Amino acid sequence: MSLSDKKVLVVDDQYGIRILLTEVFSREGMNIFQAANGKLALELIRKENPDLILLDMKMPGMDGLELLRQLKKEQMDVIVIMMTAYGELDMVEEATKLGARAHFTKPFDIMELRTEVIRQLTQTE
Ligand SMILES: [Mg+2]
Repeated sequence: MSLSDKKVLVVDDQYGIRILLTEVFSREGMNIFQAANGKLALELIRKENPDLILLDMKMPGMDGLELLRQLKKEQMDVIVIMMTAYGELDMVEEATKLGARAHFTKPFDIMELRTEVIRQLTQTE
């Protein structure tokens, strides 16, 4: 499988972040989906079965941790990379326990995130 067969879901309540990440990963040829909150993300995950999720932790309604708990409950196997704000270490710890593979603190270096996403997607082959 090449990167162009991969599905990546961007979950963030900030429009600007969704647009930025969509642009960067579309350029790699990946199929990008977007959700502004956990509830919409869950619907998309069930429908599209993405390979990787870039997950914001703080969102109104269902947040990142709640979404991770739900994914675990439904035994959905997907790579999750968290995006947090500075100082959210408790959340990072909890999310790691729930199976998140990596985390980036905002504002992150987009090229570092890109490298990590590609690494995670190609590692699992
Ligand atoms: Mg947020």
